[in-house]
Amino acid sequence: MSNSIAVCPGSYDPITYGHVDIISRAAAIFDEVVIAVVNVSTRKSRPLFEIDERLAFINEATGDLGNVRAEPFDILVVDFARKVGARTIVKGLRAISDFEYELEMNQLNRTQASDIDTLYLMASPQYSFLSSSGVKELATFNGSIDRLVPPAVAGRLKEELARQRTE
Ligand code: ADP
Repeated sequence: MSNSIAVCPGSYDPITYGHVDIISRAAAIFDEVVIAVVNVSTRKSRPLFEIDERLAFINEATGDLGNVRAEPFDILVVDFARKVGARTIVKGLRAISDFEYELEMNQLNRTQASDIDTLYLMASPQYSFLSSSGVKELATFNGSIDRLVPPAVAGRLKEELARQRTE
């Protein structure tokens, strides 16, 4: 029987418990999960954390999952999936707003690779409104983020945003 491999792509700037939830659930379904971490600045703004630090946060947060690893990527997600031998991309779906974006991405990906499909896992209720950008916003204004991100991330976020405020 062949191995089933899934790719969980994202910017993970930084990883939150919402990401960890989706990754753990994917790890229970697939033999192997590769977390693909965006390493290009195609997005409008620069990431808050450099790629090495984002990868370190992910490795720490998913260290107890034996069949999960993280890798940076700077190519099309479907090409990355092929490179690691995955036929499936796994994504988390939060509120309605994710749906429209994901539908568009899905159609675009299909024009590139009809052999790779995307599986959507519904966000767990407690993380339905959790996003990396929301956490950064909360942290900027000294909100409580300890139940939203792993401890190492919470510590570094507070430090980094405090540093930026004084720049
Ligand atoms: P964000 O949207 O938080 O910046 P990413 O771009 O890193 O996150 O997204 C990576 C993947 O994780 C996407 O499929 C996204 O829908 C999913 N995701 C992010 N936050 C959550 C959450 N709280 N619950 C479920 N899935 C999530």
